[in-house]
Amino acid sequence: LPAARDRLRIAIQKSGRLSEPARALLASCGLSWRESRDRLFCYGESLPVDLLLVRDDDIPGLIADGVCDLGIVGRNVLAEQGSQRIDDAGSVKYREWRALGFGACRLDIAVPDSWEWSGSAQLRGKRIATSYPALLGAWLREQDVVADVVPLSGSVEIAPRLGQADAICDLVSSGATLAANQLKPVLTLLQSEAVLAGPAVPFVDAREELAALLLRRLDGVLRLKD
Ligand code: ATP
Ligand code: ZN
Repeated sequence: LPAARDRLRIAIQKSGRLSEPARALLASCGLSWRESRDRLFCYGESLPVDLLLVRDDDIPGLIADGVCDLGIVGRNVLAEQGSQRIDDAGSVKYREWRALGFGACRLDIAVPDSWEWSGSAQLRGKRIATSYPALLGAWLREQDVVADVVPLSGSVEIAPRLGQADAICDLVSSGATLAANQLKPVLTLLQSEAVLAGPAVPFVDAREELAALLLRRLDGVLRLKD
């Protein structure tokens, strides 16, 4: 059995769209921290709740491996990695505990402005660039569309102009980036926002009570924001 732990460790994005709002939300729950010199770790002072500052893509794995107890991450990242993080019984090792109301975006299919869009069958045999190959692959299978998924780690929106792909599947918020690349959104695969992710089973030590306290405060703060 793993050693009992009496501090809660939350993974948040180190620098990016979700870092400031995540810290602000946790601070509004009454948490305060002392930061380590390397800015990797924040030691909880008001409550035994520490922060680990990491890349957002690492957060699902850190929770699945038990390195962190909770995480604040986009639903898009959680969903993309969900199918890889399965326990022996075949269920995902973490789940979405709460939607947090910031970091809203959509995972959309976008096609060149010049296409006259007629539906998903139009994607048959096309190359679709994305950083979300698992979600796109699952959606294509569901649609019964055989297409060529081109996995890219960044700058997906320029792939059609470079001739690397015919269409893309990417995160969209305002749509300005798509428009600047002569693309238009035609379908939404996922509505996303930042979420609090946690394990699918309860903690068996002091962390359970800490997590319950944090959730009560968080629910209070989220209700006020509505
Ligand atoms: P990291 O260095 O941590 O890997 P990143 O570049 O992958 O950072 P960000 O661009 O900061 O991540 O995006 C973090 C999250 O913000 C996304 O996963 C998504 O949930 C959300 N988000 C909201 N709007 C957008 C948008 N327009 N484009 C990309 N992500 C968005
Ligand atoms: Zn990332």
